[in-house]
Amino acid sequence: MLKLEDINLFYGEVQALWNISLEVQEGETVALLGANAAGKSTTINAISGLEKITSGRILYQGEEIHGKDPHEIVELGIVQVPEGRKLFSFMTIEENLELGAYSHRARKDFKKNLEMVYELFPVLQERRKQQAGSMSGGQQQMCAIARGLMGSPKVLMIDELSLGLAPIIVKKLFDVIKEIRQSGITVLLVEQNVNHSLAISDKGYVLENGRVALSGNASDLLADPYLKRAYLGM
Ligand code: ATP
Repeated sequence: MLKLEDINLFYGEVQALWNISLEVQEGETVALLGANAAGKSTTINAISGLEKITSGRILYQGEEIHGKDPHEIVELGIVQVPEGRKLFSFMTIEENLELGAYSHRARKDFKKNLEMVYELFPVLQERRKQQAGSMSGGQQQMCAIARGLMGSPKVLMIDELSLGLAPIIVKKLFDVIKEIRQSGITVLLVEQNVNHSLAISDKGYVLENGRVALSGNASDLLADPYLKRAYLGM
């Protein structure tokens, strides 16, 4: 469904991505792992059209998309939940959710999607008139995921789902990702939490210094001695 072929990306003179290749099949959940500054956000920003690649190809359903603008990519059904949530903090939960549905593809399903996200996150319905900035970190992350779902994604890319959140909230959010996957949405999960994310993923890619250092089935990766040593402290 989504394929990156040997992509390279520079910030000015500095090369951030080196020949990154990866593939996400329809309906899969795929984890993009790695430490700080490994290039995870840059990779999904390239898919979203927020950063331009200098070489390589990004294919979505067999078509090249790397020349497209971000709003065109969203219209194709590739939606990003950005790192740090980036909610409009002085707007209400409901207004934030409405903004997630601005694309043509999402508008026609507005009502259905709103019902779906309120079912997934009842707390958002209870607090729909509350300013987003006044919610807890976990609730804000729920709102950011819900806003992404309001865009009617075929592929949902979530940047740092669990960062800075309490373990009980992290568990709830990973459970929600499983439900999102069951609804047929393809998920690309950018994470530093290797254990949790591989537990719910089909496969994973580990980035180091802008390169794919390791990739494979989630279960094989979890058993990989290098990954255990470098990322799980075992
Ligand atoms: P993090 O979890 O810290 O966001 P990451 O794996 O997502 O890590 P990136 O944010 O993709 O990493 O960063 C990859 C490299 O590119 C880093 O060295 C970072 O400093 C650099 N970088 C990221 N964004 C920019 C930018 N806008 N301008 C210049 N350099 C950047």
